[in-house]
Amino acid sequence: MNRDFGHPCFNPGTVKTHGRVHLPVAPRCNIKCKYCDRKTHCANENRPGLAAKVMSPDEALAYLSDVLKREPRISVTGIAGPGDPLYNYETFEMLRLIKKEFPDMILCLSTNGLLLYDTIYNLVDCGVSTLTVTINAVDPYIGEKIYEYVAYEGKTYRGYQAAQLLIEKQLEGIKAAVDNGLLVKINTVAIPGVNTDHVHDIAKTVKKLGVVLMNIMPLIPQGDFSNILPPDCQQLDKMRKESSSIIQQMYHCRQCRADASGLLE
Ligand code: SF4
Ligand code: SF4
Repeated sequence: MNRDFGHPCFNPGTVKTHGRVHLPVAPRCNIKCKYCDRKTHCANENRPGLAAKVMSPDEALAYLSDVLKREPRISVTGIAGPGDPLYNYETFEMLRLIKKEFPDMILCLSTNGLLLYDTIYNLVDCGVSTLTVTINAVDPYIGEKIYEYVAYEGKTYRGYQAAQLLIEKQLEGIKAAVDNGLLVKINTVAIPGVNTDHVHDIAKTVKKLGVVLMNIMPLIPQGDFSNILPPDCQQLDKMRKESSSIIQQMYHCRQCRADASGLLE
């Protein structure tokens, strides 16, 4: 990765010089992760807090202009929810508005990946250059314990079939993104007793597809998983250490609030 690349999440060397802002323009989601309570922002990227107000693309553009006046070191604008960005047409409208008004801005997106393959050309056309996909399993038998349902092309899938479809779409989407020159990171929510022994397999699978960075995040117990204790620091360290021989690990994620803006430090 270019040392000067000004994305503080992908390049820890820039956390003190470059900032990011999240724009909440994407309310709907097409899957149901069992650790999501739907009351706050997508738990795959955001720390739970008060549900931030959903903005229209025009409102978000005005907000972005205002934030940039106050913090000109912001170099990245990300769309990470409250639902799945790719399942909301407002995301694409927003990206086009930013590209027009702020052509130097790095455009970033965080997704569950279900629609990634289907929308990749649109994303490239909008100028998105960095992407985070949440991959919690590459084995449907593990995935079916994590996802309650997956809705795709007018049909709702459950159990093994749901996980199989999601994983298939995520992996083909990541490959298409990498083939189109996007820098891809994955988030993996570590859920003790469910996927913590599987993290290594996830690392190996995504590395082969060209993913550059892995962010292993501790479960925040909510929704159906509200009774599962998150991994402790030792467990997290162990998982990161084991996977670091396969793929670069992210150690500086702040599990930002949905309305976060500014420098990571
Ligand atoms: Fe919730 Fe999962 Fe959808 Fe994110 S992708 S909004 S965590 S169900
Ligand atoms: Fe970066 Fe982590 Fe914050 Fe996302 S949640 S903007 S990856 S530091």
